[in-house]
Amino acid sequence: MATVLVHFAAAAATDRGRKRPSNEDAFGFSVEHGVYVVCDGMGGAAAGEIASSLAVDEVLQRLESRAASQAPLAQAAEQAVNAANAAIYSRAERNYQLNGMGTTLVGLLVEERRVLVFNVGDSRCYRLRKNRMEQITLDHSLVEEQVRMGRMTRAEALRSPMRNVITRALGTQCCVTPDLFELEADPGDLFLLCSDGLTRELADPLIESMLMLELPLDDLCSRLVQAAKKAGGHDNITCVLVRAEG
Ligand code: CA
Repeated sequence: MATVLVHFAAAAATDRGRKRPSNEDAFGFSVEHGVYVVCDGMGGAAAGEIASSLAVDEVLQRLESRAASQAPLAQAAEQAVNAANAAIYSRAERNYQLNGMGTTLVGLLVEERRVLVFNVGDSRCYRLRKNRMEQITLDHSLVEEQVRMGRMTRAEALRSPMRNVITRALGTQCCVTPDLFELEADPGDLFLLCSDGLTRELADPLIESMLMLELPLDDLCSRLVQAAKKAGGHDNITCVLVRAEG
């Protein structure tokens, strides 16, 4: 069988939304190095912004310079996540005003057709393949864990006053373990990385139908963000789209 070569294209958009005074989400990517990250920060004052941007910078920098080490993707991602965790944790320890700051993280690390998805918290990765969207990551949130254990329905989870409680974050503890998902990209696959400001406002079938529109990635990103704002924009909204092209 002939080897299928894929290359990747990406675009991103972020917006403060309509209710929050600042944007604590952060994103970054390098198509050249095959690294894509979205983070959603939390903490008082400017702490959330600091945590999310520290995480994006640290993970990008670590993974962009990984070629020399030839480490397997999973190992490289885990090390980068741990470095980001340590950077946030030690920064918070040095400054009591930043105490308790943290961030979610969802990332893609791509090498040829191999795609590693990694996450901590409730920012998500979805894949659209042949007009079907699938959520790749599992939220590290209290309500999602209750749903998975059959103790709560999805509808109850959406209304629960506990829906903001996340069970794993970067920077709040000395160590963190990301979930890892190893996939193989097919030409045409479209990956969406996003913060919960998108997924709380827009139901999955709507996101799926928007991802099927044949538009440039930049336009798709801004349409997603605008739709989430129109639906309420209660939180910061961020999305990164990564398309595998044949
Ligand atoms: Ca958020």
